[in-house]
Amino acid sequence: MRQTLFLLICFLSLLGSARAEPVRVFCAEALWCDLAKALGGAAVSTTSILTSPRIDPHDFQVTPDMARKLADSNIVLMMGGHYDDWVPPLLAAQPSTSRHVISVASLAGLGPNDNPHLFDDPEAVRHMVEALSTELTRHLPDDAPSIRARQNDLTAMMTSFADRLKKLRPQTKGMKIAVAEPVGGPLLQALGIKVIDPEFALAAMNHDDPAPRDVARLEDALRKKQVRILLINPTVRSPSLARIEALARDSHVTIVSFDEFPEAGQPWQDWMKARLDRLVAALGVHG
Ligand SMILES: [Zn+2]
Repeated sequence: MRQTLFLLICFLSLLGSARAEPVRVFCAEALWCDLAKALGGAAVSTTSILTSPRIDPHDFQVTPDMARKLADSNIVLMMGGHYDDWVPPLLAAQPSTSRHVISVASLAGLGPNDNPHLFDDPEAVRHMVEALSTELTRHLPDDAPSIRARQNDLTAMMTSFADRLKKLRPQTKGMKIAVAEPVGGPLLQALGIKVIDPEFALAAMNHDDPAPRDVARLEDALRKKQVRILLINPTVRSPSLARIEALARDSHVTIVSFDEFPEAGQPWQDWMKARLDRLVAALGVHG
């Protein structure tokens, strides 16, 4: 009898300590799942699709396996703003009333023609962390204090990065650069840097042929060294981009490389610091 009671107590205490099922988070881009892990820890299980900046998100095909993982998720995190247009058809094919979808572009109030590279926008990333924190707390009410504490840490880090941008701006404001693809847009905007070829870059992002007039204007600016640098995204390749890069090299215009997004597992702040450090060095400013 005593043994049965002991076993019963063991069983009940096991039940009490057993965690609820982890919250299943599906991420179009790995960075969002890294943030979900940073907020929810072991109470969150994640599935990321775009895990390497070597994958071009603007030209991406889904697989049946991805559709299954999405159908099984409680929370879906995505960039939105035509960045990951492969997600909405997946959502529509697997309707669910309980699944919660968070789009960074929607949170940031991005217009249909605005630059969707919001990894480079501390404010947009902060909005995602806030929305995610609220949603995770709804699923994990007992974890509310720890989620809140981790959210505060992430927010403090983003604020300090935004402060660095503010301090740099007086030196960088009005500088002219060329970009081969609109990666890094919000970062450049925060620094007041003028991108001289937005139409060329947008065509490159959408895998369209750039207009001959836009190509001619960009080539002219590179030949005359009217820009400080050419910013490239190594993942987006095309013959016209290769020609532009070659011309920049021949004209001794510094080429700076910005990845589309961080590798899975690389903390956002480390990734952002590294690209801002490269930009600052190439522009010859300090801070
Ligand atoms: Zn891109």
